[in-house]
Amino acid sequence: MEWLRTEYGRRCEEPERTRVNHTGIEWTEETWNIVRGCLMVSPGCENCYAMRFAHRLSGPGKPYEGLTRMTEHGPKWNGEVRLVPEKLEEPLRWRKPRRVFVNSMSDLLHEKVPDDFIARAFDVMRRASWHDFQILTKRADRIPDLDRFVEWPENVWMGVSVENEEVLLDRVDHLRRSGAQIKWLSVEPLLGPLPSSLDLTGIDWVVVGGESGSRARPMAPDWAQGVRDRCVEQGVPFFFKQWGNFGPDGVRRRGKKANGRELAGRIWDDYPEALPRAATRAHEAQFLPVIS
Ligand code: SF4
Repeated sequence: MEWLRTEYGRRCEEPERTRVNHTGIEWTEETWNIVRGCLMVSPGCENCYAMRFAHRLSGPGKPYEGLTRMTEHGPKWNGEVRLVPEKLEEPLRWRKPRRVFVNSMSDLLHEKVPDDFIARAFDVMRRASWHDFQILTKRADRIPDLDRFVEWPENVWMGVSVENEEVLLDRVDHLRRSGAQIKWLSVEPLLGPLPSSLDLTGIDWVVVGGESGSRARPMAPDWAQGVRDRCVEQGVPFFFKQWGNFGPDGVRRRGKKANGRELAGRIWDDYPEALPRAATRAHEAQFLPVIS
């Protein structure tokens, strides 16, 4: 990967056509789903994409069988969680370095995921040192506890989702208290303004996005710009992911692509300053044994 230093962090300069992106998610390139199933915990979960997607794959013999239920408001998780240990070693087989989103279809820190399974996942992440692993949780109270049984590798980015002011302080404080080397916030879907006093001390990266899908809720431009302003003031790399189905003009459009990714006249695509050395890690990957 080629990186260009920018005013606030780094931007990937590798041409789009040579990049791996097996996901529709702008800030990552791969997903690694080692846990299936979840339960809604806060307003940001209301239109959980994973929940709707899982329901489509919940028929007999399908991967998400028995993990969702249909309600008058559409499909919902039923609280069951299934571990997928056979996928644990997958990243060791991916030789090209990439950013890997850990559990796009669940929450690694769900209460029903045992400590020893999380420890095994961290061991794989440490060994697959040529990738960057992006963990995101809404169960931030479990983050400080990880310090008991994991050593935080430099290629693990620990993040919390923040959708409004109500959940902000608790989640960010828990994240700050952890030993993670790269800490980040996914402010998506942004459902209200965050305070102008937002303190980003100890935070290495912030992603902001609006909601997509048929039940999407709008994001006001000044909410997103407010977070961007706090990042610029405090020198924190900022990534604007998407407007979602509502554009900056408040009009709902058919797809999120129609609204684009510009915020205040430009694309914001910065990544954490403290990125590990991808070139070195790519070199290490060449000498790996093939794992079948
Ligand atoms: S925590 Fe994440 S995966 Fe779980 S319901 Fe909420 S949005 Fe969906």
